[in-house]
Amino acid sequence: MKSIAVFPGSFDPITKGHESIVRRASGLFDKIIVAIGVNASKKGMFTLEQKQKWIIDTFKDLPNVEVKSYTGLTVDFCIKEKAGYILRGLRSNADFEYEFTIAQMNKLLQNHVETYFLLTEPQYSAISSTIVRDIHRNGGDVSRFVPSGVQL
Ligand code: ADP
Repeated sequence: MKSIAVFPGSFDPITKGHESIVRRASGLFDKIIVAIGVNASKKGMFTLEQKQKWIIDTFKDLPNVEVKSYTGLTVDFCIKEKAGYILRGLRSNADFEYEFTIAQMNKLLQNHVETYFLLTEPQYSAISSTIVRDIHRNGGDVSRFVPSGVQL
């Protein structure tokens, strides 16, 4: 059976931190679905279409990486896509605290969907979409923090 992992997130916008997690995991799974969560009550800075375009462009050299969007529970999306794994990245203790609870709850909801974590590479541990948006909003240059095809 194929190993399929879902990498869920807001990707508002995709950063070099996200890119690194997907590239490193692309050799570990047969297929990775980068899944943009759409939350009607949480409006981001960039449109779904724009976020999707940047992710497709970032991974155009990786044939086993796909991009999709979803609403609702991540575990339900995993079932729909026949994915047995959720992939997440960890930057800090704060990420761990947050991710621990979500992963435990997902396990209670769907026992056979396993969450796999990769630690961030040290050069990316300070990068988050939130900080990238803040820098961009205030006129700073974020090109060092996002994949090369992402022109904000
Ligand atoms: P969410 O809103 O679900 O946290 P994000 O788009 O912010 O979505 O993040 C998606 C995933 O990518 C999360 O697992 C997050 O911890 C991870 N991630 C974000 N930035 C980095 C980074 N710089 N290095 C490693 N992982 C990261």
